[in-house]
Amino acid sequence: MTIDVNKIDPDALKVVQRLRRCDHLAYLVGGCVRDLLLGRAPKDFDVATDATPPDLRRLFRNCRIIGRRFRLAHIFFGPKIIETSTFRDNPREIEEGQERETGTESDDILIRRDNVFGTAEQDARRRDFTINGLFFDTDKNEVIDYVNGMPDIEARLVRTIGDPDIRFREDPIRILRAVKFAARCELQIEPETQRRMIEHAYEIEKSAPARVTEEFFRLLRMGAAKRSMELLAEMGLLQVMVPEFANWVTQTPGEDAARERLPRYLDALDVVFRETQTAPSNAVVVAALVLPRLAVSVEQDGDNQRDMGDFINQLVSPILIPLRASRRDSDNARQLLLLARNVLLAEKRPRRLRVNHRDLRTDLDFLLKVIARVEPISEAALVAIAPEAPVVTTPAAPRRGREPRSLWQPGAMSPIPVLPRALTSSRRRPAFEGTGAFGSVLSGPFCAAVD
Ligand code: ATP
Ligand code: MG
Repeated sequence: MTIDVNKIDPDALKVVQRLRRCDHLAYLVGGCVRDLLLGRAPKDFDVATDATPPDLRRLFRNCRIIGRRFRLAHIFFGPKIIETSTFRDNPREIEEGQERETGTESDDILIRRDNVFGTAEQDARRRDFTINGLFFDTDKNEVIDYVNGMPDIEARLVRTIGDPDIRFREDPIRILRAVKFAARCELQIEPETQRRMIEHAYEIEKSAPARVTEEFFRLLRMGAAKRSMELLAEMGLLQVMVPEFANWVTQTPGEDAARERLPRYLDALDVVFRETQTAPSNAVVVAALVLPRLAVSVEQDGDNQRDMGDFINQLVSPILIPLRASRRDSDNARQLLLLARNVLLAEKRPRRLRVNHRDLRTDLDFLLKVIARVEPISEAALVAIAPEAPVVTTPAAPRRGREPRSLWQPGAMSPIPVLPRALTSSRRRPAFEGTGAFGSVLSGPFCAAVD
């Protein structure tokens, strides 16, 4: 089992070769080596080297040093970044040595600092999983395996490097990372690793909330939402991150119609990710998670839900609040759900949708593709919401550092404004050609809104 050198990014190769010409050690490392060995296309290419950040700055003009805790280099090739980091050691093992000397050992081994240079072998060992700890020597065309990762690649197993009890206590985010690799790369989790993931689930709360939120959305955005959700629910991890939502997923009796639809929505998220080669936004993910309940409510009550804004708030709060989602993600998710509800109602009461924010149009486009895979939405309904000419143009992009103006009015029945009839005259022909393929509707721009 080895790596086809032709699949290596030429710019990553340039970085490695340049470093080697200057007498440094340099290897490809981490996710790219894992993915190439597993026959998957790497998301990005990372390099590990014994060159320090100042060395890297001297060697590469196109280099920016980033990171407060641990400084590493971003080497730019147009929009592409080759992340290049100096070999470092596991900071906990160093602290442990110091504690032994001073006799101050403690139970808390959470890593708070991570900034000590080390050797190539130490660098491999401080990594999280054996499949992520492999180096690839591009000159010799061989894998360097300090962590016994190759057998796990072959057996397709996620296993921590070293004692899982210690490795998850050092950094509980690794528990979520294990789920991510298992789901995304279709691997099994090694039984002892899995046992410790469950045991240490509650320590996820010790991690910085922003990291938890980021990993939660990463799990659901990257084409393996369905499997990730199964693993999160099975191992009690969902319970830790979004308890009320987890209760609904795993227990609440009497809501079966909606709950049974959740895996289909998650599967649809994954399919649309693969088809469009784009990741859904966080707002789309949140909308997809609660759409089963919204859809069932529309089916049962039609347009009779008294306060739709309030109802949608009840659906999304169990996700948005514990995750401390950003205001922008929260507003967009609610707005998308209001639009989605109009789509679901379209059979009964056709209306056109108006979307006047660029992000939301892309998001709605994605979400409609998801909905169309799950709900029996007729072509007639899609025609009803299909775009005409792009009457409503998107406003200028918001200035940097400022939240976009919220379209969400809490408590409003429907914040979707109605356009003057002149703008939506029947002379504007719908883009939809009635081919039977939803694609032509769903990929177009969404615009005008009239009932
Ligand atoms: P992806 O395809 O999602 O980018 P990746 O394996 O490259 O997967 P990154 O988050 O980009 O994951 O991290 C790069 C490498 O850094 C990992 O492969 C792993 O070796 C190491 N790493 C990342 N996070 C941790 C962590 N929390 N603890 C230990 N090592 C880590
Ligand atoms: Mg990576």
